Amino acid sequence: MEAFDAIVVGSGPNGLAAAIRLAQAGFSTLLVEAKDRVGGGLRTGELTLPGFQHDICAAVHTMGVLSPFFNQLPLAEHGLAWAYPEASVAHPLDDRPAAMLELSLPETAARLGKDARSYTQLIAPFLRNPHGLLRDLMGPLGIPSNPIAMMRFGLRALQPATWVARRFETADARALFAGCAAHSILPLNAWGTAAFGLIFLLTGHMERWPAVRGGSEQLAKALLSYFVSLGGKVQTGLAVERLDQLPSSRVVLFDLAPKQLSSIAGDALPASYRRRLAKYEYGPGLFKIDYALSAPIPWKDPSCARASTVHVGGTLEEIAAGEAAVWRGEVPERPFVLLCQQSHFDDTRAPSGKHTGYAYCHVPSGSTFDATARIEAQIERFAPGFRDTILARHVSTPGDLEAYNASYVGGAVTGGAAKLTQLFTRPVARLDPYRTPNPRLFLCSQSTPPGGGVHGMCGFHAAESAIKRLHRSAR
Ligand SMILES: Cc1cc2nc3c(=O)[nH]c(=O)nc-3n(C[C@H](O)[C@H](O)[C@H](O)COP(=O)(O)OP(=O)(O)OC[C@H]3O[C@@H](n4cnc5c(N)ncnc54)[C@H](O)[C@@H]3O)c2cc1C
Repeated sequence: MEAFDAIVVGSGPNGLAAAIRLAQAGFSTLLVEAKDRVGGGLRTGELTLPGFQHDICAAVHTMGVLSPFFNQLPLAEHGLAWAYPEASVAHPLDDRPAAMLELSLPETAARLGKDARSYTQLIAPFLRNPHGLLRDLMGPLGIPSNPIAMMRFGLRALQPATWVARRFETADARALFAGCAAHSILPLNAWGTAAFGLIFLLTGHMERWPAVRGGSEQLAKALLSYFVSLGGKVQTGLAVERLDQLPSSRVVLFDLAPKQLSSIAGDALPASYRRRLAKYEYGPGLFKIDYALSAPIPWKDPSCARASTVHVGGTLEEIAAGEAAVWRGEVPERPFVLLCQQSHFDDTRAPSGKHTGYAYCHVPSGSTFDATARIEAQIERFAPGFRDTILARHVSTPGDLEAYNASYVGGAVTGGAAKLTQLFTRPVARLDPYRTPNPRLFLCSQSTPPGGGVHGMCGFHAAESAIKRLHRSAR
């Protein structure tokens, strides 16, 4: 008799999702985590001053709130409360009003002036059955439930973001699209980057991009509480380096990077598969700053205060140039900065009257460059006086991020470059990407489809694959 049916190594959102799915299916499941508390990218802490709660990794849950798996779970009963802003995205521009991603398509379009019609024509067709489209997109390649919608989406999505953005006449609409597409962490002239622009805009018209009330860690706590209610077991403080450190089990799922899977599994995986894992490309890293602020960010355009996320990077051309520079190994002079302002719509994050700020930019893998001044110059450009509101800051370099979580290889936080060649075939091209050649071992992290972000869908699909194996081996 094995001690457990399944062990999941790593307790990020995908590890938690996989563990829950296995426990729901009636399998005895142990969740193992290196740190002293679960959560992976879902952790919150007082990084700057007492009373200021910062999201250490993920902040805004664009995909989490729409996740087909999370939405089936009774997470509210286990303490989860989303905190909603008035709008998802503000995109400030020099000397003109910011472009805004509002929940309402007509309101968003109306602010885009001459591009109101073309914006509506681009987005409206995907809003006919958006949840069906997302379900098809949030899994491995397969037969879509709605092939016509998927084909229509694919025709646009496969293009470079710069092509789709240039259908617009105004700098506002172009910039709004570019800011969303830059979540790909790819050069915006790369094939397939339009997919990110479209998906992020679409999600903003389905739900306002929320944070988690009390901090992202509350989502991990709710997932953990539900897992434990299903009879799941947890062991924290065990950084797995070899398979023989784990109790016996019928299957093991790794919520880790391919590099870690290869090193932990060693000879349990064929050398040819490990060679393929070694070729996996992780992509650029992140340079992040958390701020304790004495006041709200003094945006030139006050509409920016309404959004959970502010895309600070100026025009399409500037953002495209910056992201291309990162892939050439440079830190851009004027980086594209992703800024979140959770305390604006969640009063648990900072002492009364004070605020938190969260900002990062993309930098080359493993970069040791201090990007603080460049990030702050960009924020100051659209919010003069920002520097005067800073009470304290906490900086994380790519090296700090990797030291914090070994899955962030070189500071890359989305589990691997989202290039077309690696998006649906991660970590390697296989019919079932969650399986390895060893029938006991599975990968369930963001380095499998559908990739980075807090949605748990990698973990869900990996668990389904492992469940098939568990049923087969029981016969
Ligand atoms: C700075 C930053 C900002 C981000 N912002 C957002 C955002 O706003 N929205 C969003 O949706 N996503 C965001 N992300 C991405 C998101 O956090 C990840 O996509 C997500 O957490 C991936 O989940 P995962 O379960 O695959 O892995 P992870 O969350 O990385 O979890 C892996 C777990 O494995 C553990 N572990 C590692 N090695 C071992 C070992 N040897 N033994 C045992 N355990 C181990 C780690 O401690 C960790 O708990 C951000 C990430 C970072 C770092």
